[in-house]
Amino acid sequence: MRLDIITIFPEYFAPLDVSLIGKARERGTLDVRVHQLRDWTHDVHKTVDDTPYGGGPGMVMKPEVWGEAIDTVIGDGAPRMIVPTPSGRPFTQELAQELAGEPWLLFTCGRYEGIDSRVIAEYGSRLRVDEVSIGDYVLAGGEVAVLVMVEAVGRLLPGVLGNAQSAVDDSFAPGSMKNLVEGPVYTKPPVWRGHEVPPVLLSGHHGKIARWRRDQALRRTVLNRPELAAELDPETLDKHDRRL
Ligand code: SAM
Repeated sequence: MRLDIITIFPEYFAPLDVSLIGKARERGTLDVRVHQLRDWTHDVHKTVDDTPYGGGPGMVMKPEVWGEAIDTVIGDGAPRMIVPTPSGRPFTQELAQELAGEPWLLFTCGRYEGIDSRVIAEYGSRLRVDEVSIGDYVLAGGEVAVLVMVEAVGRLLPGVLGNAQSAVDDSFAPGSMKNLVEGPVYTKPPVWRGHEVPPVLLSGHHGKIARWRRDQALRRTVLNRPELAAELDPETLDKHDRRL
């Protein structure tokens, strides 16, 4: 998968050199290219922003510089363009899965009050463009949001996780975990500071362990994410689930 990221802070993306994503880049599974937006400015100050039409506080990123940058980066190609913004559609595991199936993604990192909306209109007529929010809070810029999305998408690419089953059992994974968060996990020793690992996990009984994990996932979802629990499709619940 090819990923292009346009930003005024390329140094934000140093973490993409480490861990799973760093290894995926070394192996060539991920081809990440980070571009400095200011390289497409033409004034001595390398200006990327201007005052907003209609007044108000803050500055808005100028369309001309974004247009030149995106045109150069994509050439004749057609990546799917992801614009991080708090006003976008929510970034979910489902969307991460969908994006993991794309060959090429282009991320545009906004700063200040965001990017002039005509940039989205312009490329929306030529590319698939998604405005995406990583949560109901406001960050100072799109860089952290893009790091979040790249990590969530990157770990779903074939061969990136040591064990592909991990992604299937994860919170929010499509299938049996859709709308569920994962239950608690444990490792050795069996007793730590008087806290015991639930005996069923030591039983070796795969059926009972699967049942226990499902129950715990349901309980945690009801407790921590009641809005997700309310959306559980009754068709996906078995008799045991309904009793919980
Ligand atoms: N004035 C904008 C608003 O209220 O919607 C907020 C702009 S924010 C200070 C600057 C940039 O940070 C945005 O253009 C976007 O790229 C990024 N950003 C901030 N919060 C975000 C979020 N929750 N999800 C994705 N991107 C976000």
